[in-house]
Amino acid sequence: MRLALIRRQFSATGGAELYLQRLLKALVAAGHEVHLFAESWQGQAEGVKFHAVQAGGSRADRAWHFAEAVKSLLEAESFDRVLSLERTLNQDVYRAGDGLHRVWLERRRQFAPWWKRPLIGRGAFHRRMMELEEQTFNPANTQRLIVNSEMVRGEIARHFPAFPLDRIHLVRNGVEVARFQNADRKAARARFGLSEEDFVLVFVGSGWERKGLPWLLRYMEGQRHDPSLKLLVTTRDRIRGSVPSNVILTGPLSDVESAYAAGDLLTFLPIYEPCSNVVSEALASGLPAITTAMNGAAEWIAPGVNGHVLDDPRDMATLGMHQSLADSSGPSRSHRRADRSRNERAKHHPRSRAGVMISEAHAAAASRLCLACGMCCDGTMFQIVRMQPEDSPAKLTELGLRMRHRGGEDWMEQPCAALKRLCCTVYESRPVRCRKFHCQQLTRLSAGEISEGDALAMIASTRFQVERVRELLAQCGYREDGAALQEQFERITSTPVKVELEPELAETRQQL
Ligand code: SF4
Ligand code: SF4
Repeated sequence: MRLALIRRQFSATGGAELYLQRLLKALVAAGHEVHLFAESWQGQAEGVKFHAVQAGGSRADRAWHFAEAVKSLLEAESFDRVLSLERTLNQDVYRAGDGLHRVWLERRRQFAPWWKRPLIGRGAFHRRMMELEEQTFNPANTQRLIVNSEMVRGEIARHFPAFPLDRIHLVRNGVEVARFQNADRKAARARFGLSEEDFVLVFVGSGWERKGLPWLLRYMEGQRHDPSLKLLVTTRDRIRGSVPSNVILTGPLSDVESAYAAGDLLTFLPIYEPCSNVVSEALASGLPAITTAMNGAAEWIAPGVNGHVLDDPRDMATLGMHQSLADSSGPSRSHRRADRSRNERAKHHPRSRAGVMISEAHAAAASRLCLACGMCCDGTMFQIVRMQPEDSPAKLTELGLRMRHRGGEDWMEQPCAALKRLCCTVYESRPVRCRKFHCQQLTRLSAGEISEGDALAMIASTRFQVERVRELLAQCGYREDGAALQEQFERITSTPVKVELEPELAETRQQL
């Protein structure tokens, strides 16, 4: 196929362009004729024909000028498919890798000092950028959208409801696992002046405001009483103000894997990231990660299993608690703190929703599994929870649960309103059926028939399948409205499809 790709800047070596470098390579290797339309580039990509796009103009107009220029260049030629990685005016596929400019502005307003808020988003640059974004997300201008997280998919649905959900596809960022598993921890620690006794937080990324580095630096300032706690910062940014003595700046690294190898915990607190690579890179390196709910990559995190997600990047108390938990169970200090670790974990982790576990070890394992799962509460397994005589529907309503009453029966709707970040927020007052529920995984774990790892693998694979079902439902035209999964399925399959009239839909329905 003759393919056109669009990106304003390209570098054959820069880390920021890794996605495009890999994509170009793969398309050329697959035998396609690949053209790249760019304003400027450094180095070449083998087998790719570069086309210079003349944009120019003020900062406010430059993105528009580029979009208009690339549109006329493309109209003069003929391509089988056009894939844009920029906000442009006409393409078959747009990859929304930068997320939404309007959401970025919302986040900046949310976290800026009060006096700065009214100024954010004002000015020609932002106005023009949002106008261009509106064109890109117009379904008449773009046939398909690729997003790299559910978070961005949700943002598009919220801000551009006219764009059909079945034309938005989730393709998660890949990671070269082998690259991040082979770095030498000992050598990396020596290189950055770290001892084996140090507990090392790692921050990787550039973009001072967006990535939340100032909060981390403030946190480290308050931790100077602990001489073995260090923060390793790998960034291109020039840091403004003073840098606490427990922070080590590496500068930009071409072998960023050595920073992960030297660390114990990734701490990455952006106010907006569509899906940052650093989280998947850290996880591939074997590091747990603490990130924020404003990062699409938080979808990789099973809280309490491979990290934690902060609702607010300024929440240093929660960051500190989870850093201490990771610290006390990490390899470098485990010999000193193993007992304390167990006690602390038992104290802080939300308890399991199931009441079946007997020993403390099993209770902790159940807690970890439930924190990775949540499927008995999030509408995946059940549509409703029936009330029992001991339950008080009035009290549960007060707690914010969605209660229903009909024909002398009370029940609670699923997904449960009390489920937040896979934790039950009304644990002490939860309904009787929740207390008595024993899922198969926990029952089998308790009976010693499966290990915690087996149960986790089952949960991960089930969650993956659930995600796939949700995708197919969306492709069949279901607009996510928070209903339980079974209900969504029943609604979609209740209308017949004629294969002769709608062959694509019939095939998707078949897969479903
Ligand atoms: S289905 Fe089982 S493992 Fe999952 S949250 Fe419910 S009780 Fe926990
Ligand atoms: S009340 Fe708690 S345990 Fe029961 S469904 Fe809701 S989140 Fe789950």
